Amino acid sequence: MTTLHFTTEIAGVSRAVMSTVLAALVACCASQATSVARANEPAAPAGQARPPSFVILFADDLGYGDLGCYGHPTIRTPHLDRMAGEGMRLTQFYSAAPVCTPSRAALLPGRLPIRSGMSGGTPRRVLYPNSPGGLPASEITLAELLKERGYKTACIGKWHLGCLREHLPMRHGFDEWFGIPYSNDMKPTPLMRGEQVLEEPAVQETLTRRYTEEAVRFIEQNRAAPFLLYLAYTFPHVPLFASDEFRGRSPRGLYGDVVEELDASVGRILQALRDTGLADNTLVVFTSDNGPWLVKKLDGGSAGLLREGKGSTWEGGMRVPGIFWWPGKIRPAVRLDVASTLDLLPTLARLAGASVPTDRVLDGMDISRLLLEGAPLADRPFFYYHESDLFAVRKGPWKIHTMTQVTYREKTPTRHDPPLLFHLERDPSEQFNVAADHPDVVADLLQEMERHRQTVEPVPCQLEPRDDEASRWLRQR
Ligand code: MG
Repeated sequence: MTTLHFTTEIAGVSRAVMSTVLAALVACCASQATSVARANEPAAPAGQARPPSFVILFADDLGYGDLGCYGHPTIRTPHLDRMAGEGMRLTQFYSAAPVCTPSRAALLPGRLPIRSGMSGGTPRRVLYPNSPGGLPASEITLAELLKERGYKTACIGKWHLGCLREHLPMRHGFDEWFGIPYSNDMKPTPLMRGEQVLEEPAVQETLTRRYTEEAVRFIEQNRAAPFLLYLAYTFPHVPLFASDEFRGRSPRGLYGDVVEELDASVGRILQALRDTGLADNTLVVFTSDNGPWLVKKLDGGSAGLLREGKGSTWEGGMRVPGIFWWPGKIRPAVRLDVASTLDLLPTLARLAGASVPTDRVLDGMDISRLLLEGAPLADRPFFYYHESDLFAVRKGPWKIHTMTQVTYREKTPTRHDPPLLFHLERDPSEQFNVAADHPDVVADLLQEMERHRQTVEPVPCQLEPRDDEASRWLRQR
């Protein structure tokens, strides 16, 4: 009966809270409709009868060095290696934050989480099962943009953008959702369909297989219409679980079993696209929400030659695998261009002929010419936030750190004045500080940080505990 209890409770914190929330939702929906209506209307690429479908495959805590095609010596990932070989593999692709909640809050609206209040501070750097906050309804997600163009939209897997009903995926533009509301180490871990709890706790050994089956079903059912499938895998976030078919097989141990099961899942999804005849009209993206959780030792992954991992603004915390696959459209290539998950919204919107909001700052840019024509991307700054603090910036090959902190090992940040400067192309492991030799570069990057700060307006933090009715109810659970 735990399940029923959870369902009922999450369904409506109280009538009073829900009526307030509903009023806010109505107001926000109205403002969203207005902003979309005001936006530019780019034409769909010429000669395209039907807009392409999109599949975003988003691993959790998978490191830069954890796939065969990114150099792992003992984890076997033949399907992802084939996907990379047939598509475009980026070697300098980033997640927009080094931990789960802000990373997802960046990808879906295409905005740095500092703009939506979805980046926190110690001790709450992500949302917890008793967090009343979530992605504000005023954010316009990729799913909402594409729905306006007639897309079917599905979210499968981990959400982690708020667990009260008003924050769940179907309130953010998804037609359906099957997955868990937050990380798999947070209790209770319910498995949900739509806004109902299917099982609690979720049987984690089965999650990857069931996510895959849901994804294949969604593809087969929607072969006639363009769709967005956002599949955010629960793994390889700790605790690790693999199904019987994969457990005990990988030379890398349980972590390898889990990644190899993800790889097989990707293989099945790509095969479903081929079997349905949709492969040549579907862009598939594979990436990860942040770097490896190194303090978990053998249960954590690898950032390869990059420094540090999850929770840090060193490269290993935020640079992740980035593979783009679209047979017949994206030519096989390995590219060094710097891009990030913030670019997905403007890029997919462009390919779909969807409008992007013009009443707010978007932090990414359309990279479709890189993907489809191989056109090089111009240098632009990429900002590294640690929680709500801007710690570092990269432009071209150069990166400065004004602060550093490896969340899970260092209790306080270290300030660097003058900043540390690294040339990431010559020194991808960030070993050799060359600030003294390039004061002009340091000054230019400091200016970029200052210019960026001017664009950030203060908003309420969604990750902090609050003293309202929803929070009090959540604390009692
Ligand atoms: Mg993560």
